Amino acid sequence: MMRFEELTSPEVAALDRDKTVLVLPLGSVEQHGNHMPLGTDTLLVHSVSLAAAGRGSAPVAVLPPPWYGFSAHHMRFPGSITLRAETLMAVTEDIVVSLVKHGFRRILIANGHGGNGGVIDVLASQLGNRHYGKARIAALTYFALARDAIAALRRSQPGGMGHACEFETALVQHIRPDLVKMERAAATYPDPGSPYLTTDLLGGSAVKTYLDFADLSPTGTLGDPSLATPEAGAKFFEAAVSALAAFIEDFRRWPLPGTTS
Ligand SMILES: [Zn+2]
Repeated sequence: MMRFEELTSPEVAALDRDKTVLVLPLGSVEQHGNHMPLGTDTLLVHSVSLAAAGRGSAPVAVLPPPWYGFSAHHMRFPGSITLRAETLMAVTEDIVVSLVKHGFRRILIANGHGGNGGVIDVLASQLGNRHYGKARIAALTYFALARDAIAALRRSQPGGMGHACEFETALVQHIRPDLVKMERAAATYPDPGSPYLTTDLLGGSAVKTYLDFADLSPTGTLGDPSLATPEAGAKFFEAAVSALAAFIEDFRRWPLPGTTS
């Protein structure tokens, strides 16, 4: 496993262009309830990416995440910072285009923030099309990838995993326990007002609409952080890491249609 920012330019030059998988983590800087840090999503997806990159046989380099994401729905809470969706698209695109210019052929955008979902869906298609014949570009959200394993581990009812919830709180208790103020954690099972809408992390509503988090929860927490423990966090972390490692192992073998060498 390599941390891209720690490599020298000659070390990058020596990497195998066909075999090396580059992972770009994307997260957010936004409120995570009264008990968790603003950087939760980026911290988590970076940790999961680094751990997953250390498994398996493919050479994997994890890029430094750009920290910020699309967080317009959190802006009524102090500390939240949002890029415009088009800014996030442009930043991510510029990073990926730079990597393709250096000849890399397997680039994975690993997302850790639900609000970035629409942007990465578009990017995977748009960049994949533009660089067809040069590189494969994949995008995923790590907790969606590990959905089944997380569902099997969860203790909360639907709605208990949404934001700064059972899942995210346990994960931060596992990787950075010093950053969790459990005495300030408050549960909220939000009611988005229609059976067509869900705020659950694993809910997967078919309908998309704007939900302002300050309307859903007075603390910004969606779900039940009181169910989180460091032990559960270790299990969630392992589920997320093994799912991502398995994907990388598969992705490194994807054919590169249209390539000439
Ligand atoms: Zn989060």
